[in-house]
Amino acid sequence: METHGNNVTDLRSTTHRRIIMFPLPFQGHINPMLQLANILHTHGFKITIIHAEYNSPNSSNYPHFTFYSIKDRFSEIADQLATNRDATFFLKYLNESCVHPFKNCLAGLLAEPGDETVACLITDAGFYFTQAVADELKLPRIVLRTSSLGCVLAYDALPWHSKKDCFHLSKEDSDYEASVPEYPLLKFKEIVKITTNPQGMGEFVTNILDQMKASSGIIWNTFKELEETDLQTITQHFQVPSFTLGPFHKYFPASSSSLIEQDRTILSWLDKQPPKSVVYVSFGSVAHITESEFQEVAHALANIGLPFLWVVRPGMVIGSEWLESLPEKFEERMGDRGRIVKWSPQQEVLAHPATGCFWTHNGWNSTLESVCEGVPMICSPCFVDQPVNARYVSDAWKIGVFLEDGFERVGIETAIKRVMMDKEGEEMRERITCLKKTVNVSLDKGGSSFQSLNNLVDYISSF
Ligand code: UDP
Repeated sequence: METHGNNVTDLRSTTHRRIIMFPLPFQGHINPMLQLANILHTHGFKITIIHAEYNSPNSSNYPHFTFYSIKDRFSEIADQLATNRDATFFLKYLNESCVHPFKNCLAGLLAEPGDETVACLITDAGFYFTQAVADELKLPRIVLRTSSLGCVLAYDALPWHSKKDCFHLSKEDSDYEASVPEYPLLKFKEIVKITTNPQGMGEFVTNILDQMKASSGIIWNTFKELEETDLQTITQHFQVPSFTLGPFHKYFPASSSSLIEQDRTILSWLDKQPPKSVVYVSFGSVAHITESEFQEVAHALANIGLPFLWVVRPGMVIGSEWLESLPEKFEERMGDRGRIVKWSPQQEVLAHPATGCFWTHNGWNSTLESVCEGVPMICSPCFVDQPVNARYVSDAWKIGVFLEDGFERVGIETAIKRVMMDKEGEEMRERITCLKKTVNVSLDKGGSSFQSLNNLVDYISSF
């Protein structure tokens, strides 16, 4: 896997300024925040991470940072994660439960005597309450938005508060397959997936966008060339500076912020597979699927006859601990052709020459990681920003196939064949290989991400 750490100027001895960072406690948010922390540390800033108790990062992997844990009371609701699909329920809770502990912690840090000054606070956009705290404590707040630019524009446009209930359409409704007028890239059948609580989601989105607009700047984990038109629109919508210096994970070798232990034994299994032959399947750290969907995936993988690597996170299948609901004789049929693991070193898997396609839920990190390694995708979005990312992948960038009919074995087999065996798949691979090259150019000296990082460092240094 190619990384771009050598392009980072090491200024460690030239500044003593500190940045305080506060990630949202979920894998897809912790990874980019800690990657960004490493990037800024390499540019000479000292780093303090304030974090929730829930999903707390492993501080021993970051001896160069200072960590403070705050009491989030998330354990009181964490058992609902497998059954409650309303993400805003958890996010709203955290935006209330963290206010006082966060404010006390931050005020305490600002009052500490020391030889360095705090330059700014960088918080996940999902922690919208932090803008008021930063204002009160007179500290500039920069937002890290871990989703795509396209997702923010779609969220801004969608009719959350419409009287017409477009978020609960069913297959029988005539509009189900139609494009959403407010954001024509999306169809109604996707926006029904985004949330089960449009009212709550609308309020959450409004809070996030308002507090992004009130911030001192926005950092995006994307690169300009991928989302150029959307970047122009964003720059018009948000009057604060935007910095597109991603993809963050390309600055360093594979990340160490994984909350689950990565099974590295599969790398030697991958070494034995032919080039571009393996179907890699993973639905990220929070998505859940039903037992019957799980069985359809298993049947499709057994039928397709290609090598596969399947990440089944414990608890991912609703009602199962791990693999209890696999179809009978599945492991026999799979033999050495397939591997199931609890969690993989995903960036290395995607960078491996044997990996042929990525069947993904299209979390933004997974999507970017696939783009960076030139691996075409099969898109099975579950909720929140995933349906938006998936439409960009399949319809805008044309680097993947959208699994239109959900988890159903014949449809899955057809989608895998389209990507792995058809001319259409070859064309997708060519397009995503071009994007991979563009990523590398953008991170190299003089490229757009390289330049944006320099601008960010200058900007923070000016506070
Ligand atoms: N990931 C991993 N091993 C796995 C599956 C995922 O290390 O087996 C990492 C992946 O590389 C990515 C993150 O977990 O950085 C998942 O983030 P994403 O935004 O794709 O999805 P989320 O988990 O937030 O739904």
